[in-house]
Amino acid sequence: MKKIAAFFILLSSFQSSYALQWNQIQEPTESPVTSVGTTSNGCLSGGQAIPFEGEGYQMVRTSRHRYFGNPKLVIFLQQLAKDIHKSSSGILLIGDMSQPRGGPMNSMHASHQNGLDADIWLWLSPKQLTNNERENFAAPEMVRNDRTNVTKNWTQTQVELIRLITEHPDVERVFLNAAIKQSLCEQSQGQWKWLRKVRPWWGHDRHVHVRLHCPENEAHCKETAPIPAGDGCHELEWWFSEEALNPKKSGKKKSSPKPALPAFCNAVLNAQ
Ligand SMILES: [Zn+2]
Repeated sequence: MKKIAAFFILLSSFQSSYALQWNQIQEPTESPVTSVGTTSNGCLSGGQAIPFEGEGYQMVRTSRHRYFGNPKLVIFLQQLAKDIHKSSSGILLIGDMSQPRGGPMNSMHASHQNGLDADIWLWLSPKQLTNNERENFAAPEMVRNDRTNVTKNWTQTQVELIRLITEHPDVERVFLNAAIKQSLCEQSQGQWKWLRKVRPWWGHDRHVHVRLHCPENEAHCKETAPIPAGDGCHELEWWFSEEALNPKKSGKKKSSPKPALPAFCNAVLNAQ
């Protein structure tokens, strides 16, 4: 019996063991910097750890060991923190980036694999968080329970944060809850070109997911399909339909086989 049980445990862990390999690596490679593949099927060579604190920001949930990125992402985040600190005096709380060598994660994210994604909390902290708070804080909700509008926690500080992020030329897109995009669209009245980069997605009601473009001269890096033209404000309706607000859970979902990672990632994974 024991053997059979062990076999099934092995079988069920097979899928995640792939992610576990990447999860267990503690250090980035010392090889030249390059983001490899796409954000949802890739890895990171020569990743850089962002310091846990800097001017205007703190890293949160650092115990997850996901504070590595392409140096271009590290520079972007540090500059953003300085800029938003100047206008709001709040402290930017930065969450997951990538694992030391990127790659698939065993929980929570399908992307964040090649060092170009970061999650930033929408609530800015009025004070430095303690170590304990950094791990356990609960950020205020920006979207109402019925998912149709923002809460009073969504203020001009958050609008300014999203503007600063999306107007940066290195930013490819951000993901935010549809209710937040809707609120931005109402305020924009068709004037804010940067709204094009704000893409609606489920969740993302307390944090914004930021994705950078592939850095120049990193030939292994692949961009995802470009976002459509226009500010996307007229295509929001579906997000407030029953189908989108309360998606049916479709029983047992057959998970399609994951595509193989780019071959270059084997070298990244196995580098000393
Ligand atoms: Zn994210």
